Amino acid sequence: MTHDTETFAQFADRHIGLDDITTARVTEQIGFSDLDSFTDAVVPTRIRGDEGLDLPPAASEAEALAELRTIAGRNTVNTSFIGQGYYGTYTPAVIRRNVFENPAWYTAYTPYQPEISQGRLEALLNFQTAVADLSGLDIANASMLDEATAAAEAMTLLRRANRKAPADSVFVVDSDIFASTLAVIRTRAEALGIGLAVEDLSAGTIAHENYFGVLLQYPAASGTVTDPTPVIESAHEHGAGVAVAADLLALTLLTSPGEMGADVCIGNSQRFGVPMGYGGPHAGYMAVREGLQRSLPGRLVGVSEDNVGRPAYRLALQTREQHIRREKATSNICTAQVLLAVMAGLYAAYHGPAGLRRIAGLVHARAVRLAAGIAELGLTVTTPRFFDTIQLSAPGKATELADAAHDAGCLVFRADDDTVRVSTDETTSGADIDRLLGAFATVTKGKAHAADAGNDLEPDFDFGGLSRTSEYLSHPVFHVHRSETQMLRYLRTLADKDYALDRGMIPLGSCTMKLNAAAEMEPVSWPEFANLHPLAPAADTAGMVALIEQLEGWLAEITGYDTVTVQPNAGSQGELAGLLAIRAYHESRGDTDRTVCLIPASAHGTNAASAVMAGLKVSVVATDEFGNVDMDDLKSKIDEHHDRLAAIMITYPSTHGVFEETISDICDQVHGAGGQVYLDGANLNALMGLAKPGRFGGDVSHLNLHKTFCIPHGGGGPGVGPIGVREHLAPFLPGAGTVGPVSGARYGSASILPISWAYIRMMGPDGLKRSSQSAIAAANYVAGRLGSHYPLLYTGSDGHVAHECILDLRQITKETGITVDDVAKRLIDYGFHAPTMSFPVAGTLMVEPTESEDLGELDRFVDAMISIRAEISDVAKGAWRADDNPLTNAPHTAEAAIGQWTHPYERTLGVFPAGVNPSTKYWAPVGRIDGAYGDRNLVCSCPPVEDLAEV
Ligand SMILES: *Cc1c(COP(=O)(O)O)cnc(C)c1O
Repeated sequence: MTHDTETFAQFADRHIGLDDITTARVTEQIGFSDLDSFTDAVVPTRIRGDEGLDLPPAASEAEALAELRTIAGRNTVNTSFIGQGYYGTYTPAVIRRNVFENPAWYTAYTPYQPEISQGRLEALLNFQTAVADLSGLDIANASMLDEATAAAEAMTLLRRANRKAPADSVFVVDSDIFASTLAVIRTRAEALGIGLAVEDLSAGTIAHENYFGVLLQYPAASGTVTDPTPVIESAHEHGAGVAVAADLLALTLLTSPGEMGADVCIGNSQRFGVPMGYGGPHAGYMAVREGLQRSLPGRLVGVSEDNVGRPAYRLALQTREQHIRREKATSNICTAQVLLAVMAGLYAAYHGPAGLRRIAGLVHARAVRLAAGIAELGLTVTTPRFFDTIQLSAPGKATELADAAHDAGCLVFRADDDTVRVSTDETTSGADIDRLLGAFATVTKGKAHAADAGNDLEPDFDFGGLSRTSEYLSHPVFHVHRSETQMLRYLRTLADKDYALDRGMIPLGSCTMKLNAAAEMEPVSWPEFANLHPLAPAADTAGMVALIEQLEGWLAEITGYDTVTVQPNAGSQGELAGLLAIRAYHESRGDTDRTVCLIPASAHGTNAASAVMAGLKVSVVATDEFGNVDMDDLKSKIDEHHDRLAAIMITYPSTHGVFEETISDICDQVHGAGGQVYLDGANLNALMGLAKPGRFGGDVSHLNLHKTFCIPHGGGGPGVGPIGVREHLAPFLPGAGTVGPVSGARYGSASILPISWAYIRMMGPDGLKRSSQSAIAAANYVAGRLGSHYPLLYTGSDGHVAHECILDLRQITKETGITVDDVAKRLIDYGFHAPTMSFPVAGTLMVEPTESEDLGELDRFVDAMISIRAEISDVAKGAWRADDNPLTNAPHTAEAAIGQWTHPYERTLGVFPAGVNPSTKYWAPVGRIDGAYGDRNLVCSCPPVEDLAEV
């Protein structure tokens, strides 16, 4: 190794898979002498920004972690009694270490290829089952982005479900609901022109007369537990649907909303073992009654069967809905909160029904103790019946009480000048309660009866008429993993079924499955980041806020925008925020008619769905035979909509994986017509350090920190979808003024931001540029080697692609019957995750190698694809029957390999095709899964077991 003269490799050298020697081989193969001359040739000059990146020079891993330690040290983790949707919780160490901190879980992709995702699909099914059982409803989905967005989705679901309601009917929301929930509902309702009526429903009656749906919270934001039955009944008599926002832990003790007739139940699963994380990420949830499942937003795991009838899990029904239904989609949710839903489901499995009930009983007993102490101090408790939250009335004294609590290291929620709320949780100790009462006593001048609570409280399960009597979590999975050894092995078994980045390349076009470095991941578990409450006072969060502001500044520098906000907790939510900003901008100028959004036919499905959610009308612009925006059609669409044009939403580099030369013209024309340009920045991995969307024509972009900036995909989330805007749009950022928030927490999924911070800090400006260059070079290398075996669908005018390439199998399928599905499943036998299938063009595979793969892995993938091409030819030549060959039978399981072998090809060819090492082979746990069967026979929770005594 001649190039290795430096003592230490820089972080960038570890992050980027190609070293000096292999980079030279790659650039030579694609016809260039080095990376710079190559990128000069492929990235259009008109968009290039050569001013470089004004970022701090690269830090080493040790330096970056030391800086993060200093930042973390500026946070203070006080004992939180704030509640309001976020509670202290103990993440069982066995789950933290083996799931949260385990790349087998956090580097996995969304389970679109179910045969290699059985572990996380099972874990999600546990989550769905827990949510459905606890809420008392029939079907739950696999997570929502947070409680507030889940509430907004419940509103639109009830609107869709109630077609008979008059167009001007409103959504009634109980006033005793979390402020964050109401704020997001308002944002969404305003965009869609849905009227809201916020009223006090505690008396059980609804004053408004013309409404299609109702939302109430149980227990309410004030802590009060009121029987929702009268409201549910009067709404139903009125023909309206009812959604209940409920706390899953409380539901272990309280009669469930489903039993009381609710149609929808939503909420958050954070307190099931997921740290508060200064607001996120955690898995929101939604459950519905039978009959509404086809309107459920987001992803739903269902049970189906494989080719030999083994039960097998897969994503059901509407999973890829936006890609199919686009502007008619019910929701724009794409990346969700899978890793966190997995954790919450496992928390339920580890504790089981009795354990959860006991935890809830203790939380309640502590709240009872706290309430008694508060009353003894002469303060008035105004929550007659509560689970974990007590509201107290202290006219004019709320601030004083909150300050005294803070001085004693405790945080309470100051609802207004006269009102304070305190919540207990799993981590509240007797000493914590004494400390808080002592602090309150300094204000009331009373004497806190040092309740001397200790920790020996008995759980308290009594809720009178609302005490839960129905069973829940009766499935074996919630009973058999009770010891740590059993749980450890269960987690290992699940992880072993799955293919994640820790096994090999995941070449998914548009998804940028790159390295998530261990050093980037470590700080996420630090208590100074993980255990902050989002409503903690500024004095406690100085480090976190500084980190966020610095990251926003760096992202602004990288993108060329003036302002960045990290609030949106997925790309889809960034899209919504960006489009709402555009709409509000037009409205502020009196341009109220600008409501048409142009979207190219090739766009990501979320684009169209988000436009509709922002209250815009979608007009589709055609693409030409080279995959570029059809400039004639663009012109005619601009002329047609004229002063109704709000924006164009366009992805750059395009979803076809090319640097469109016309991008500057497109931006100019739209601007010329008074429209704004939304540049979808999900493909920024091709631009960092080379070009800035905010400089070459964009007014707003979202980025996907879970693609370009190393937040792991988590098996389908969490994500962060920040938006950058030019100055004129800054006043319209979510929560900044006219436009409301798009997520429940001010900074969205704050606790995972240190990952992206560390990536930028350790790569430095040169490393980021080399990252983009290497990603583009790797894609062109793959395209170059595969181009003679599979036609490349699109290339730029110079014959090159950007950071991904599309292999067109349509002709091959026509001639041989072998489909993209067959190739995707056969790749499993070769030890790979399939590329993106049939997006953006049906019948194609989109390959994105990213900068993190080394040449050996790129070649292994290319060789597998070439070998598969030869197998396809053998089918075409008639060597094997069209319905019995290594491709259509893929993936081959171990059971299939040792069973009776009737196929016209060798067993070894089936299971150890060219180059596969038998000693390290990844075995798919199930054979090809029949998706249609599962959709016809929808089962979305753990199959019931008749006799639990057997397990
Ligand atoms: C991934 C992606 C999105 C959506 O991002 P999510 O975080 O999954 O919501 C939007 N546009 C493009 C081009 C993407 O690749």
